[in-house]
Amino acid sequence: MNLFDVYPIYPIEIAKGLGSYVWDNNGTKYLDLYGGHAVISIGHTHPHYVERLTSQLNRLGFYSNSIKIPIQEELAEKLGKVSKFEDYQLFLCNSGAEANENALKLASFYNGRKKIIAFSHSFHGRTSLAVAATDNPSIVAPVNETDNVVFLPLNNESALEAYFTAHGNDVSSVIIEGIQGVGGINIASDAFLQKIRSLCTNYNAVFIADSVQCGYGRSGKFYAHDFSGVKADIYSMAKGMGNGFPVAGISIAPHLKPKYSMLGTTFGGNHLACAAALAVLEVIENDNLILNAQVIGDYITGALKGNPKLKEIRGKGLMIGIELFEPCEETRKKLIYDYQIFTGSSSNKNTFRLLPALNLTKADADIFLEAFDKMTK
Ligand code: PMP
Repeated sequence: MNLFDVYPIYPIEIAKGLGSYVWDNNGTKYLDLYGGHAVISIGHTHPHYVERLTSQLNRLGFYSNSIKIPIQEELAEKLGKVSKFEDYQLFLCNSGAEANENALKLASFYNGRKKIIAFSHSFHGRTSLAVAATDNPSIVAPVNETDNVVFLPLNNESALEAYFTAHGNDVSSVIIEGIQGVGGINIASDAFLQKIRSLCTNYNAVFIADSVQCGYGRSGKFYAHDFSGVKADIYSMAKGMGNGFPVAGISIAPHLKPKYSMLGTTFGGNHLACAAALAVLEVIENDNLILNAQVIGDYITGALKGNPKLKEIRGKGLMIGIELFEPCEETRKKLIYDYQIFTGSSSNKNTFRLLPALNLTKADADIFLEAFDKMTK
């Protein structure tokens, strides 16, 4: 049986990882500034993570959501504390798309409406409603096409206001990434997020903060949307949540009330997934990783800002977009093959992304900065 060939891949086999480094099957060591697509939040094979998962697996890996699972409550309590949203409610699932799908659905159950506002260059996932709210027609199948989603320009307050004035009572939800990831690291401005908040409040629409990539401390705050000083009604999260174990969730404001069966999942919130997610939060908290993301992120962006070969540096914390004046594919290849450094691409062909583990050190950052300096001399 062959694999269904949907991924363009680099012919490298990663065999082992430790912290911010991975080794291929020939023993070559690489600096991982990609984090397996923003997934590795606390570093590869972190000892606390390995220990927590192993001991949970030795006791019980899985049982269904039809029984009491105290480790889910433990996770909800810890997430409330670390994210500082203690009065919100947690629903657990398995992937970013599923988190957004549930968020959009919950919003519609809440206000009985159908219209969703999403923004240019957004990415929210590949399931039916999540992909319909993603600004990339090439990944939307005919069956996913819907009139229920409207795309407005990012950071354009007057376009948003005009849409609400005309159709506000039909709007179920507004979904927005705090920092667009796949779209090439575009920051939603504080003023724009504040405007979304006030319009959603005025029209009883639901503000959904897609924090799948920009959340979990990566930006230097727990959710990138936190910089704006306003609260969303639902935060979706996934990638960094399990440091590679598939676990996702939505954090839900108190006014959105649950009802039996309105949402559900077989695998979501299983014992192993919760152990992984708890281990991640414990490390983030104990090692002060949100602050580290801010400090090392500022160090990298500060060092790159003077480089005349770069068109623009965008991002916050350890979610950094580097835009060149030309397509970046060759630069990324050179970084991998000549300097053994992994980075991430984006749908903006001139922009590549740094999405490393949140415990990246200054010494790790210097390896990249020196390599990049040499390459762009
Ligand atoms: N939202 C955002 C902002 C993402 O970056 C992604 C994944 N790139 C998703 C949703 C979908 O997540 P998943 O691949 O886990 O379904």
